[in-house]
Amino acid sequence: MKPLLVIATRNAHKTDEIRAMLADSYEVHDLSSFPEAPPVEETGTTFLENATLKAVSASKCIPGIILADDSGIEVDALGGKPGVWSSSFGGEEGNHDKNNAFMISELKRVGADSSEKAAARFRCVMVLAKDGCVIAEFSGSVEGCMVTEKRGEGGFGYDPLFIPEGYDKTFAELPGDVKNSMSHRARALEKAVAWLASRS
Ligand code: IMP
Repeated sequence: MKPLLVIATRNAHKTDEIRAMLADSYEVHDLSSFPEAPPVEETGTTFLENATLKAVSASKCIPGIILADDSGIEVDALGGKPGVWSSSFGGEEGNHDKNNAFMISELKRVGADSSEKAAARFRCVMVLAKDGCVIAEFSGSVEGCMVTEKRGEGGFGYDPLFIPEGYDKTFAELPGDVKNSMSHRARALEKAVAWLASRS
């Protein structure tokens, strides 16, 4: 039987990606299986602070090891924004359409409409916690550039606007397994899974 890994998220897209990446090694559940887990206000100012808040909170009421992912996109021409505030950049928490529309208007406003000017990266920090304590932290990132028109139907969030380095398609145009082979989330998860394996 595969060991259980609980992800401290209600974002089904994150869960789906992590589940696909761990299909052979873990049975992945998220907070939709644990309605008793309280909502967490993401009051941190860094990915690490928010991932820690989410992992610690969930691990106080769910047994076993909990994994939390905090992630976002940083655009150089926007001074690194939206970063940790990626999910509410367009003014409404978790509204990807508004986030992408605002991102496009910001890119155009600062003239970041060609690949040289539109350098960006996705970042992901993962925290593992157990019984209310942090037990490990990992990070991953993927460099790329922004486009100012949405391209592709796959993925979620800013995927239609981000072309990873070495490719000519956005994350939303690339097949899911290609994104999952080199995304910020994949890179952090690979380290977390290696760490978990080294302890068992
Ligand atoms: P979090 O749930 O606070 O970690 O916020 C994550 C936000 O960052 C999401 O709502 C998206 O806007 C963005 N984001 C993080 N990872 C990805 C990704 O893999 N693709 C597209 N957008 C992402």
